[in-house]
Amino acid sequence: AIYLDHNATTPPAPAVVEAMMSVFSGLWANASSQHGPGQEAKRALGAARAATARALGCKPVEVVYTSGATESNHLAVRGLLAAAAPMRRRAVFSSVEHAGHLKLARTLAEGGVSVDFIPVHGDGTLDLGAAAALIGPDVALVSLMAANNETGVLMPVAEVAALAQAAGARLHVDATQFIGKLPFDFAACGADAVSLSAHKFQGPKGVGALLLRQGVCLAPQTLGSQERNRRGGTENLPGIVGMAAALEQLGGTAGVAAEAERLAALRDALEQGLARALPALHVWAQGAPRLPGTSYLRFGRLPAEVVLNRLERLSVAASSGAACSSGGSEPSPVLTAMGVPPDEALAAVRLSLGRTTTREDVDYLLAALPPLLEPLLRQAAETAV
Ligand code: PLP
Repeated sequence: AIYLDHNATTPPAPAVVEAMMSVFSGLWANASSQHGPGQEAKRALGAARAATARALGCKPVEVVYTSGATESNHLAVRGLLAAAAPMRRRAVFSSVEHAGHLKLARTLAEGGVSVDFIPVHGDGTLDLGAAAALIGPDVALVSLMAANNETGVLMPVAEVAALAQAAGARLHVDATQFIGKLPFDFAACGADAVSLSAHKFQGPKGVGALLLRQGVCLAPQTLGSQERNRRGGTENLPGIVGMAAALEQLGGTAGVAAEAERLAALRDALEQGLARALPALHVWAQGAPRLPGTSYLRFGRLPAEVVLNRLERLSVAASSGAACSSGGSEPSPVLTAMGVPPDEALAAVRLSLGRTTTREDVDYLLAALPPLLEPLLRQAAETAV
């Protein structure tokens, strides 16, 4: 089978599984316990925190472990809003945030916070002019993803950080799709808080972090004494150690940059090869700055489920837009925000490449998929005439 759904999740690296197994069997004590085994677990937690901080360019105290990006996003948004000055009662989100994050945004009105959404252009890039108009002195929080999970489009984090800083607002960045795919440095990124999830970079599911700039106040959403009172609950030590191992196997800035270059070349070869064989191919955000391994496309107006069915026959795993919306027949809100009509949006297929993707995978797809789709496209063209 060929796995082209790395934006949904990634296979854990062997080093990750190995590191976790040794924690499950040998370091199962509670890191808050005063006895010997507990103190041993505490030391392992400290070592993982130090390794995580090194890999992400932050201080160990700036790492708040969570159960993943969804929880990190909730902690950042609710926690930073609760700690904001009373006259700041507005929040600004991009209109193409992850589905769960948009749901969270829509709940904020109940707490008396009004929310505005920054629109995107037709190529999926953020409308910076609109962002500048929306981010004023009454804004408490701006929340922006670093890279979109569907289109792969990179968002202008530095520019929005400057706008937020000028307005005195906090900036939260959901870097779930960015970290592991492109070089990242918390100290340099300009955000007050950054969300990440280990399973997007060969780590385990159910563990992630909120990186929180030292000195930034945040109201905890889960009460307890762990994580310096910022997130209560017994630490998920196997997950935390697994996440540190996943970050280490990325190979630092050089390793991430080299892999990004390899994936961009494979992605370009895939898109060019498909376009040559099937002129009805359309790739969204092709000219925009985007993640190296993400390709978001449609074959004419062939419904996504038809294309996915043919991919399934070839043992290729891919997805239609966001994984959580698969099975539904609603057009992707991201494509809708880009102004894409429903019949085109319902044809959207996402191929996302990753560390396990090889040149052979791409060559196989280029040889096997066009012959399956070509008759369908011809038939569709004939019935349209
Ligand atoms: N944010 C973005 C941009 C994502 O792509 C995802 C995962 O699909 C999430 C948040 C949620 O991550 P998790 O399910 O690990 O909490």
